[in-house]
Amino acid sequence: PAAGARTETKATCCYCGVGCGVIVESDGQQVTGVRGDPDHPANFGRLCTKGSTLHLTASPVLQQQVRALHPEMRFRRDARRERASWESTLDYLARHVDETVRRHGPDSIGFYISGQLLTEDYYVFNKLAKGLIGTNNIDTNSRLCMSSAVAGYKQTLGADAPPPCYEDIEQAQLLFIVGSNTAYAHPILYRRIEEARRKNPALKMIVADPRRTDTARDADLFLPILPGTDVALFNGMLHICLWEDLVDAEYIDSHTEGFAELKSIVRDYTPKFVAETCGIREEDLVTAARWFGQSKAALSLYCQGLNQSASGTAKNAALINLHLATHQIGKPGAGPFSLTGQPNAMGGREVGGMANLLSAHRDLANPEHRAEVARLWGIDEVPAKPGKTAVEMFEAVRTGEIKIIWIACTNPAQSMPEQALIREALRHAELVIVQEAYKTTATADYADVLLPATTWSEKEGTVTNSERRITRFKPVLPKPGEARHDWEMVIDFARRLEVRMGRGRDGTRSLFPYEGVEQIWNEHRESTRGRDLDITGLTYQILEQQGPQQWPFPEGATEGSKRLYEDGVFPTASGRARFVPTVYQPVVEKADARFPFGLTTGRLRDQWHGMSRTGTVAQLFSHASEPAVLMSRQDMERRMMADGDLVHVTSRRGSQILPALASEDIRAGQAFIGMHWGEEYVSGRGNDGNGSHGVNALTVAAYCPSSKQPELKHAAVKILKA
Ligand code: SF4
Repeated sequence: PAAGARTETKATCCYCGVGCGVIVESDGQQVTGVRGDPDHPANFGRLCTKGSTLHLTASPVLQQQVRALHPEMRFRRDARRERASWESTLDYLARHVDETVRRHGPDSIGFYISGQLLTEDYYVFNKLAKGLIGTNNIDTNSRLCMSSAVAGYKQTLGADAPPPCYEDIEQAQLLFIVGSNTAYAHPILYRRIEEARRKNPALKMIVADPRRTDTARDADLFLPILPGTDVALFNGMLHICLWEDLVDAEYIDSHTEGFAELKSIVRDYTPKFVAETCGIREEDLVTAARWFGQSKAALSLYCQGLNQSASGTAKNAALINLHLATHQIGKPGAGPFSLTGQPNAMGGREVGGMANLLSAHRDLANPEHRAEVARLWGIDEVPAKPGKTAVEMFEAVRTGEIKIIWIACTNPAQSMPEQALIREALRHAELVIVQEAYKTTATADYADVLLPATTWSEKEGTVTNSERRITRFKPVLPKPGEARHDWEMVIDFARRLEVRMGRGRDGTRSLFPYEGVEQIWNEHRESTRGRDLDITGLTYQILEQQGPQQWPFPEGATEGSKRLYEDGVFPTASGRARFVPTVYQPVVEKADARFPFGLTTGRLRDQWHGMSRTGTVAQLFSHASEPAVLMSRQDMERRMMADGDLVHVTSRRGSQILPALASEDIRAGQAFIGMHWGEEYVSGRGNDGNGSHGVNALTVAAYCPSSKQPELKHAAVKILKA
């Protein structure tokens, strides 16, 4: 838009997976304000503190202070990066990647991308790695966020598709919130819950969480379970439902398989055993099971408390087992509903932008799926060798197996567990490429090549929120400085690499013939034909005219699908849902005499991830102005600690110095630290002796064997006065 021309443009909030619609006000040169989009079905005009301050993150002053505005390179680790042209930077990268692939093979390259990217960005990154370079070493920070939910849905229901929708909140008779402080992490969805409960006083709410969070305080029944005991809780509830004849035998017979094996497992999960294991009262467990089994419509809402765990897939599957056995699925107000952490973790899953996935929910391990994608892309084959997932990828960088790591739109030098190892990996890499909007992230410090990217209010494309709803938006502002769109950088680089690799000499077409995002979208759309998420009918034009739509939306459809599996048919080989025999495993690192506290981590209300954006808004610090470790008053008194005393919080991997604060919400023997604060806010040291690295200096890299999602939620620590 011309300078001075006032515009209002519809977009989405770039923070959480609720996917709220925002109207962005601009004068053509800067964003002058934001307000909730009253027509967007995710929020109907509401915004939380983060969304309503988005315009403050896009001020011209901040652009100069924190944004990466031109490409930078360095040729020696001890040198400063110097400003470079796009031409020379991308030529250098194409030459370096080509030579490395020739010398060490395609698996010497790794891409670590982000659930903050738009679907179109994700699509071309995936094609670059798997289609052109020939490596499946592409994973994303969604691995730290949703991969256990993906594996849980696929193992039980046959596809990575959340069955319910937001409207189910109003239709439910029971809300079962587990491992989610929804009031903080998904605030606008929580407003909807509050409103639904006001309108329907019969709508009950159970919350299971190790902490008495703001969400838990509102519950009719709060289950303060010990960290990591969710599988025992769900199996115990199923045990009681079986005992009290609250399961739906007809539904189990007609629409599922594998119940007998699960039944023999849950027989051992007696109320006494489960109450002891979970640290809750037996009568509360029985009440929870009865409410769930007797409810006309029970809706579970869950997030990282289930996902970020070394048994994350089992936790997801055990909860879905409970829904299947009691027929709390495929009907209004019922179902297992995973809340997406990031704004477009769903879109990334849809294009298959992870090490074990392929386009349109296809599986890398499936030869037919690989052949289908190879045909779609016009290449001989997609490599069969599984790619490295997030933790594995940085380990491969550390050991030298991966020589070049290309990181886009994410900050692993703060967000990955066991930071000392991640930073060692970044120091050892032959070449670190960081594609980022912000030059201030901890990861940008390690970049040999910094590629400046556009961000919120500057980009065009689509995102998918937690309820499978796709929103398209257009840019409001011009690209700042020399920043480019993520997809543009990828295809500009890819075309240069194609020339070096000889593609085109034999008459083959470029794999990246796109002139704009719509062509990328259309190719992605076509890849979904006949799949569970078929969006062949969802053109940019329809998204523009009819607004955000849910998938599936196949060709010929006039609207998307609100709710899945209402016909009782599941996308498995037999058409039946599968019970998974889930067995409780304790947390990886139990508290012991040396490290007596169980540390959990989580979101604060007004901050987002590593604070690269929210950390630029002063008013977002009014809720929590500095990091702290929260402990029970009892533990603090026993250790002669007073509020504000500085303490060392130490795990086997690192240490932090933080003020301690007494909290009535935490049980004795447990502690909590907000996940957002990085090394600029916290002093301490990782085991590598290089700075504090934020809370993830303490966390453990052990991961779920199925989803490969690390156990960021729990570590054993000791806490001593500084
Ligand atoms: Fe943004 Fe999430 Fe808040 Fe909505 S609830 S405004 S998407 S942070």
